[in-house]
Amino acid sequence: MIIEKNLTRIISTLPEQVHLVAVTKHRSIEEIQRVVNYGIQDLGENKVQELLNKYPKIKGDVRWHFIGHLQRNKVKVIIDKVHLIHSVDSIRLAEEVQLQSLKIQKKTSVLIQVNISKEESKYGIDETQINNFIAEVSRFKNIVVQGLMTMAPYTENIEETRHIFNELYKIYDKIKANQSQYSNVFMHILSMGMTNDYSVAVAEGSTMVRIGRGIFQ
Ligand SMILES: *Cc1c(COP(=O)(O)O)cnc(C)c1O
Repeated sequence: MIIEKNLTRIISTLPEQVHLVAVTKHRSIEEIQRVVNYGIQDLGENKVQELLNKYPKIKGDVRWHFIGHLQRNKVKVIIDKVHLIHSVDSIRLAEEVQLQSLKIQKKTSVLIQVNISKEESKYGIDETQINNFIAEVSRFKNIVVQGLMTMAPYTENIEETRHIFNELYKIYDKIKANQSQYSNVFMHILSMGMTNDYSVAVAEGSTMVRIGRGIFQ
């Protein structure tokens, strides 16, 4: 019953407007199915192969989120399966998402991954480049930019993540205020917060948390 207990506890701490994406990486079909049966619709995977393996096996009304680094040559195998790609971080990747979406006559919803923490190992657009990037991506007719995503570095003291989430919130808010100047940009999702730091992320304005370990352990 631990999965159901964890979900109940996590959901009770989330404000109503904050969406939970259950991150199912490394989890068995049986464990994931329990999350769906509990009533969670949104599942997140960070590896293409794992998503492809699980996609046909999970039963129910599921929306798959792709949250990890996405290679261009893999876009075509997931494009018809994903509800939201959280990790668009280059124009070349956006071009491929556009191309593959057009082929299947789909408008693909994406978030732009922003690198606030400037850790070298992390992907994402530099925050100083974000306006130019949004302007370029907004020209792709089969892409809808729904918001922004970031990952904070892991830290024992989660207060250290607060300035990162606050910074992304301010960027999001500014773009939202000016979004009428772009086509295909409808800012309403701010994807930030994982098991370790979601309480801080939510306090700083997150609208979507991506939680794995907190559900399954
Ligand atoms: C694994 C992962 C998560 C969830 O991390 P937990 O610590 O298990 O909550 C969230 N976002 C991304 C991009 C991930 O890869």
